[in-house]
Amino acid sequence: MSTSTLKFKIRLLDQRVAPEERERLLADPGFGRIFTEHMVRIRWYAATGWHDAELAPYAPLTLDPGTAVLHYAQAVFEGLKAFRQRSGGVAAFRADAHAARFRRSARRLALPELPEETFLEAIDVLLDADHEWVPGAPEHSLYLRPLMFASEVSLSVHPADQVTFLLIASPSGSYFPRGVKPVSVWLSEDFSRAAPGGTGAAKTGGNYAGGLLAQAQAAAQGCDQVVWLDSHEHRWVEEMGGMNLCFVFGRGGRAKVMTPALTGTLLPGVTRDSLLALGGDLGYEVEEGRISVDEWQTGCEDGSLTEVFACGTAAVITPVGAVKSARGSWVVGDGGPGEVSMRLRQALVDVQRGVAPDPHEWLYHARVSSKD
Ligand SMILES: *Cc1c(COP(=O)(O)O)cnc(C)c1O
Repeated sequence: MSTSTLKFKIRLLDQRVAPEERERLLADPGFGRIFTEHMVRIRWYAATGWHDAELAPYAPLTLDPGTAVLHYAQAVFEGLKAFRQRSGGVAAFRADAHAARFRRSARRLALPELPEETFLEAIDVLLDADHEWVPGAPEHSLYLRPLMFASEVSLSVHPADQVTFLLIASPSGSYFPRGVKPVSVWLSEDFSRAAPGGTGAAKTGGNYAGGLLAQAQAAAQGCDQVVWLDSHEHRWVEEMGGMNLCFVFGRGGRAKVMTPALTGTLLPGVTRDSLLALGGDLGYEVEEGRISVDEWQTGCEDGSLTEVFACGTAAVITPVGAVKSARGSWVVGDGGPGEVSMRLRQALVDVQRGVAPDPHEWLYHARVSSKD
């Protein structure tokens, strides 16, 4: 439980969604489509700091057309999940790590840093009101989306002196309702996601906006996802879409799991970090290194590189089955989900749901847990 110095005003909906209607929505929530009944809002003014923290009914915002974020994209966000625990209660996975990254992202975008205890308190306050929206089905979760944006009305370019923090929540179903299915990827050499000194390590919408055209190009090539290479040589592998990448060398207990090191142009994924720790726990050799496109191709051809997967909060682990680039295409392993990938996936999901022990203390047990 957190101790925030901000006092939250609580404004609950008068008329709650009927339980039958909620259950109907939760049966097949999809991803990012439906939202819970409340949201958290906190304001920041340069002169007064964080203030006016409140839980309010979920509702559209009214924005002046001159609001700075609409023009200059000064905004950051996070994405984390809350899980119904096998033993009862609700826990958010690595909420502290997401709070810390939210601060780092904010610093890069010249936004104020939300204290970590306020970030955690916001989660507690929202889950207290909306915990019935945390799905219980396996692989389902409540996706939490904190965001912060320049709400100052001004067309002059400067760090905003008025900022708004919001926390909304969206029940989400399994990313793979019909079983884990590998994706095909297109190696983008025409576009770059991030460059040294840029915003690649910050979770900011502009990185996504700049990637949409490359994603469309990947789709035009018949691929599911785009893979980003370094912006200088287009040779070193960085990420896949909005997920980090991991490469498995060898097989069985002797496998090595390698992920590209955090060079400043990669987003430091919490899932990536968690899998490095769990991989070590499971006895795999884990390494932060680098891999070129050539090494990816030759490793698959000579059989030394056995599995490739992408990882992130939304999909957990997504195997990469096939690769296509301007220079050719190849298959990873037999094109199906790999054994190490699936073992890591299960280990992570088990910790998240409270099915396995939590030796790293990754679960943030929400305040509502103690009331259930
Ligand atoms: C959010 C994100 C990731 C994955 O981070 P997680 O903390 O594991 O969800 C990876 N790459 C990009 C570009 C991202 O925005």
